[in-house]
Amino acid sequence: MAVLSRHRTFRFRCYPTPEQEDNLVRTLGCVRLVYNKGLESRHKAWFRRRERINYAQTSALLTKWKHRQDLAFLNDVSSVPLQQSLRHLQKAFVNFWEKRASYPVFKKKRLTGAAEYTKSAFTWTNGELKLAKHTAPLEVRWSRRLPKGSEPSTVTVSRDRAGRWFVSMLVEQDIPTLPERRESVGVDAGLTSLFTLSTGETITNPRHERRDRERIRKLRRDLSRKQAGSSNRRKAGLRLARAHARVADRRHDILHKLTTRLVRENQVICVEDLGVRGMLGNGRLARAIADAAWAAFRAQLEYKAEWYGRTLIAVDRFLPSSKTCSACGTLKEDMPLRQRVFTCPERECGHTEDRDVNAAKNILAAGLAVAACGDGVRPKRA
Ligand SMILES: [Zn+2]
Repeated sequence: MAVLSRHRTFRFRCYPTPEQEDNLVRTLGCVRLVYNKGLESRHKAWFRRRERINYAQTSALLTKWKHRQDLAFLNDVSSVPLQQSLRHLQKAFVNFWEKRASYPVFKKKRLTGAAEYTKSAFTWTNGELKLAKHTAPLEVRWSRRLPKGSEPSTVTVSRDRAGRWFVSMLVEQDIPTLPERRESVGVDAGLTSLFTLSTGETITNPRHERRDRERIRKLRRDLSRKQAGSSNRRKAGLRLARAHARVADRRHDILHKLTTRLVRENQVICVEDLGVRGMLGNGRLARAIADAAWAAFRAQLEYKAEWYGRTLIAVDRFLPSSKTCSACGTLKEDMPLRQRVFTCPERECGHTEDRDVNAAKNILAAGLAVAACGDGVRPKRA
């Protein structure tokens, strides 16, 4: 059995003490400031003098800033996240030059942010994590185990819009490829059920989701009634962010379990390409949540398939998967969304099936046809 070594990120909730939180909040502020100052210097140098400033030069600038009296507070936090921030800026420019991203923009002052610590800025002893400038280890809720004997090479501390703290650890892990399977599966994404498999199985929305969505709607209304800039508005915003975070967390769990199972049980997994989702118009909030879930689902399938030696095939987004009979291939002229059952118009066939199962079977058939045409078919990214 082949064994591959992969970098993997593990993310945990963490609970800094008031003293640690104070340090982290200041660190995030300094990270943002250094990023923005670095961006400003690069931008000016280019537009005024047509000069390109590289990472080493911004790093030298950082040393100068630290000596300035008005920026002396930069010395109160670990210098590693500040250096890393300039590295991220460098990467943002490289991505821009290589036409993978648009021109870097200033980081706005927000509750959210992240600070990246490399090995010299944290200690990892007996499963406890202590960051530079902290006197005690960070309290981490270890929701799962790190791979045996692994040691984080990078640690990123971040805060989300709901004000919660997280720590992500990058570790190297050995992953054995799974034995080959003969099964393959097609997946159709919908709104009434989250996913439908070509086997006929449906994966429904989490039970609490309707209630959560109603709560989000209510909190949104509350927020819109509050006066701009007031502390009540800030509090209402935080409540809304927390409700969103809860929905996202539950989704995250469900998706991970599902994608792991699909990859374990099947050699080939066929999905629709991204973009097809834009056609489902049925309530903006429900759609936004479903779209986010679909994107996460695709991304997880992609890396898990690669890890475990499975094949993921994304079929053309213009495939008329809901209008085609999965038994005989007849194409129907029309198949409105409200029609939940597919009935084949061909009299000799007469196939009837749940709309989504029929679509999932067509996605599977199309994906297998793609696979048969040539190996090494990679999912197309939208
Ligand atoms: Zn038919």
